[in-house]
Amino acid sequence: MSRIDDLPPLREVIRAHGLDARKSLGQNFLLDLNLTSRIARAAAPLDACTVVEIGPGPGGLTRALLAAGAGRVIAIEKDRRCLPALAEIADRYPGRLTVVEGDALEIDAATLAAGEPVKIVANLPYNVGTQLLINWITTPGWPPFWSSLTLMFQREVAERIVAAPGDKAYGRLGVLAGWRTQARILFDISPQAFTPPPKVTSAVVQLVPRVEPLPCSLKALERVTAAAFGQRRKMLRASLKTLDPQAERLIEEAGLIPTARAEEIDIAGFVALAERFAGGRLM
Ligand code: SAM
Repeated sequence: MSRIDDLPPLREVIRAHGLDARKSLGQNFLLDLNLTSRIARAAAPLDACTVVEIGPGPGGLTRALLAAGAGRVIAIEKDRRCLPALAEIADRYPGRLTVVEGDALEIDAATLAAGEPVKIVANLPYNVGTQLLINWITTPGWPPFWSSLTLMFQREVAERIVAAPGDKAYGRLGVLAGWRTQARILFDISPQAFTPPPKVTSAVVQLVPRVEPLPCSLKALERVTAAAFGQRRKMLRASLKTLDPQAERLIEEAGLIPTARAEEIDIAGFVALAERFAGGRLM
């Protein structure tokens, strides 16, 4: 694929605007149009929703989203050096791209979208990617304001998001993501596709909200998983004792075996534990 629009090639945009990549902002730009288009297609259809993109940078993925038919894109970028390049894209697609300068950790994407259905699509800056994901998954109220998240992470983080009991990568992130969403890895992207290349392989993950996640207190679930996986080699009766001296009894009441370890417990099991411990002294 040589072109998806009549804007200048991304390498030229980067040169013209002096967008040398900054490590502190997690800047690894994706310049391959086949790949940016593949990410946009994975999130399709895009015409009947507002797409929120985090960290558009020089605008490669932004352009792919617009070329793929996104009706409206709201792009949140912290690096103001990128704004002129993004303004050129906004001119090319009148009324369809709104650029918001700021820190995505502090901006409420739901408010920006003003009640319209939202899909979040991003090549996330690695230093804040996990926290952004946790914020979206733990958003107050359910179903959330977004109908899908199509996100690029380091492959190791992607594996933690989709991990199941027994997997080496299974931990707090997998429980949280699996509790409220269905998450899967769509495809990998090699380091060479980026400028500059990161040290590790990346992967695109898609998460869609579960219609009816098992009812559970988020706070209790977070505390139980933190205690259980914080000492993942220990049996639950030992690791959860820090939360309640009656841990062994509560674990049994949750229908689980006190000598099991965190990595063996599925999401329903953690929800049951959160319930029992919330009814005890946890909350
Ligand atoms: N979307 C572009 C691409 O695919 O080539 C750039 C992706 S780059 C991995 C991450 C982008 O996020 C950079 O443009 C960076 O400036 C921006 N960024 C970093 N931290 C941010 C934050 N807290 N809020 C918003 N944008 C941020």
